[in-house]
Amino acid sequence: MKVFIACLGTETNTFSNMPTGEATFAETMLHRGDGSRHGDDLFAVPLAVWRRATEALQGQVVESLAAFAQPAGITVRHVYEGFRDEILDDLRAALPVDLVLFSLHGAMVADGYDDCEGDLLSRAREIAGPDAVIGAELDLHCSLTATMLASADVLVTFKEYPHIDARERAVEVFDLCLGAHRGEIRPTMASFDTRMVSMWRTPSEPAAGLVRHMQALEDEDGVLSVSLAHGFPWGDVADVSARVLVVTDGDGERAARLAADFGRRVWELREQTHPTGLSIDGALDRAVAAPAGPVVLADMGDNAGVGAPSDSTFVLHRVLDRGIGDVLTGLYWDPVAVRFCQEAGEGAQLDLRIGGKVGPDSGDPVDLKVTVRRIVADARQSFGGSRAAMGDSVWVSAEGGLDIVLNSIRVQTFHPDAFSQLGLDPTAKRIVVVKSTQHFHAGFAPMAAEILYIAGPGAMPMDFANIDYRKFTAPFWPRVEDPFAGS
Ligand SMILES: [Zn+2]
Repeated sequence: MKVFIACLGTETNTFSNMPTGEATFAETMLHRGDGSRHGDDLFAVPLAVWRRATEALQGQVVESLAAFAQPAGITVRHVYEGFRDEILDDLRAALPVDLVLFSLHGAMVADGYDDCEGDLLSRAREIAGPDAVIGAELDLHCSLTATMLASADVLVTFKEYPHIDARERAVEVFDLCLGAHRGEIRPTMASFDTRMVSMWRTPSEPAAGLVRHMQALEDEDGVLSVSLAHGFPWGDVADVSARVLVVTDGDGERAARLAADFGRRVWELREQTHPTGLSIDGALDRAVAAPAGPVVLADMGDNAGVGAPSDSTFVLHRVLDRGIGDVLTGLYWDPVAVRFCQEAGEGAQLDLRIGGKVGPDSGDPVDLKVTVRRIVADARQSFGGSRAAMGDSVWVSAEGGLDIVLNSIRVQTFHPDAFSQLGLDPTAKRIVVVKSTQHFHAGFAPMAAEILYIAGPGAMPMDFANIDYRKFTAPFWPRVEDPFAGS
């Protein structure tokens, strides 16, 4: 058995002005032929799983590119085409192959390609032929398209947000594709469009119940896999809304019925699962009034993980204007400020312009007199089982017990060790403001007296009804009360 594996992806925020080019891939993840040996990167995890599983069966692995970029704006056309063609050339050279397995995100947009995954999968199908089994593992923040469904035999998304189940889903993709190759099963997919644009935080009810519901369905005879593709609200393409995907063994009608049934369950819970957030001042009021700290505030509007600049100053300005003390905040992606701090050295005092540099979503810069407390080169923070690169990182402090962490590689705040490795003690602060939507939760929840979500301005406005879509024209909730009316 010959198994071809590759990874290509990013999550494209089509509203962002930051281009996604080769340097962003190189900085995030770019391996040629050995991505499976770097299996601690979230999107390389499937490659490692698939290599081990194939080798355990005495099969042959042909491994191509593993490329993933920190989310930003639209991918540069020749960069996408170059990576895609590299994968397809490798596939052509490997023929004949039995399985073709891809680790993809599902919300990658390149200049000229609104559906990069559909483009890649359909070309791979043309090359590999109808008898090869093609499977892909997707982030749940994917836009599931008809082209993707028509081109692959098996598609499976993560079930959990934070994404803690990449390994289990990779095993699932492998087992289903292997079963299909051996003729033991006939994976048959159907999807259902919930016509919702929302987010589901799966550690909390009732979203956690939806995950259990999917797992219970998978225990039924003949049901091979159930996914809820949440969609990516800040990628303006034709298929933004959340979709249910069901894979049965040879029964398309049942797959469609189960997808619709579960989709209706998701719909019924829409008000309860829809993410809420506080205004900046509302969150600060509550944090200041809290009996104990640290109160962790998530600045959802500036999450690098969904293509935000991670240098916005909207919260910082309010902290300063209101004179709130004993605050720690990060990570501010500001290579220029980092450079000035490195030049000045630890212990130096300087006038520093912080943040507000990338574009309108960044707000106005903050000018502060700071002391450079600590500089760490090539810092890394914990994220699941991996160590995510932060680049050169600097702790600066200002009057009133304000501590700020600046860094040179754009990344969200995943874990308290983003701060503690610089000598800071986040557990001793009254208020900790992190730039993240949900991935911070796993690391910060154990130390937080309370967690509050801020739906402030920035690159990912949480007012889903009013996102300025141009290409996504279908009716959706919450923009309309009943997007199914008349259909
Ligand atoms: Zn995701």
